[in-house]
Amino acid sequence: HQASGAGSTSENFKVVVRIRPALPRELRGTGLRPYQCTTAVEPGERNIILSENLQAVLSQQGTMIVDSGLYNTYRFTFDCVYDTHCQQERIYRQSAQQVVLSILQGYNAAIIAYGQTGTGKTHTMEGAMEGPDRGIIPRTVEDIFTYIVNDPEPSSKYLVRSSYLQIYNEVVSDLLKPERSSLAIREDKRRGVFVEGLSEWVVRSPAEVYQLMQRGQALRATGATKLNEVSSRSHAVCVIIVEKCTTPSAADDSGAGGQGGAAWGRSGNGEGPVGPVIQSIKVGKLNLVDLAGSERVHVTGAVGRRLEESKKINASLSALGNVIAALTDRRERTHIPYRDSKLTRLLEDSLGGNCRTTMIATIAPSLDAFQESLSTLKFANRAK
Ligand code: ADP
Ligand code: MG
Repeated sequence: HQASGAGSTSENFKVVVRIRPALPRELRGTGLRPYQCTTAVEPGERNIILSENLQAVLSQQGTMIVDSGLYNTYRFTFDCVYDTHCQQERIYRQSAQQVVLSILQGYNAAIIAYGQTGTGKTHTMEGAMEGPDRGIIPRTVEDIFTYIVNDPEPSSKYLVRSSYLQIYNEVVSDLLKPERSSLAIREDKRRGVFVEGLSEWVVRSPAEVYQLMQRGQALRATGATKLNEVSSRSHAVCVIIVEKCTTPSAADDSGAGGQGGAAWGRSGNGEGPVGPVIQSIKVGKLNLVDLAGSERVHVTGAVGRRLEESKKINASLSALGNVIAALTDRRERTHIPYRDSKLTRLLEDSLGGNCRTTMIATIAPSLDAFQESLSTLKFANRAK
């Protein structure tokens, strides 16, 4: 484990909120009711006001206490609140980049998108694969390779591996090797927490990572079950592992090819045993997590498999909430209930301690979404 003057949890754990713009259908309103915005960000971008009657609240601000409960109004404070117009580039730079760069120093890290279905989790994490709408994953991958290419230390060699998995109904499956499902999560000293049998792909350029992502998404969208549904009801995790190997005599061993060196910079594009890692000095792992929609899955009326599924989604999101709340609880050592779900088990060595984590809570601005926005902000608030 890395030794370092561990920052406080709050230094390492950031919680930000992103409000997506109203969509055309929301702006049109319903026949009876025009569109009504419920969110406002105060100057300084730390506070968000959520109100069922924002007009009234904003016109009276200064003469009343905003969070008095009048007009069903709430105010929350976060590390940052990104209003509707905020571009992908700024969110990456301000809330993701440091987390990403920490893995190149050998830390584990996670970026987690939480929110109701349709509020922009996937847009934030993936977005477009090119152009200004590129989301966090493509920007992350570009940044990692840019860093590697520009490393002035000639003896440093890097190995970048990527995996893509889904947790649906508490079952872990490999999105890049569809035949592999019901995978077990294990832990050992060398690898930390890992998914047994999960394929790992050596990648040498951003393009190779995008290809993997696209394969995984295609698979996610054509599986056995009706898929819009599955994608909103499953957690998708893109794992990027970067190993940095510094060989003192790298310059002279190019011909001989030490056995450990064989895997480094290899040109195969297959998955593969990466060989014994002999001189690896720093290994960092990044989990990029697009969570299942946080909307209350209606348990009433659901039966059989559907009911079980709903319970499991609720349970794994609340397990995540409990873990994060325990981690950010500054009072003495609290028990951290990682074992309560597959998701928290998987993230066990990427949350807390020296790990860098950003949670991005996404909400919609419209009145229809008010209750879900409130519950998302409460969840995120608990994670601070
Ligand atoms: P989720 O993954 O949370 O279900 P999506 O990312 O699929 O939500 O977003 C739902 C819809 O809203 C999509 O059509 C998406 O393009 C759009 N959207 C989300 N966030 C933004 C944003 N910041 N700017 C523009 N459109 C957005
Ligand atoms: Mg999505």
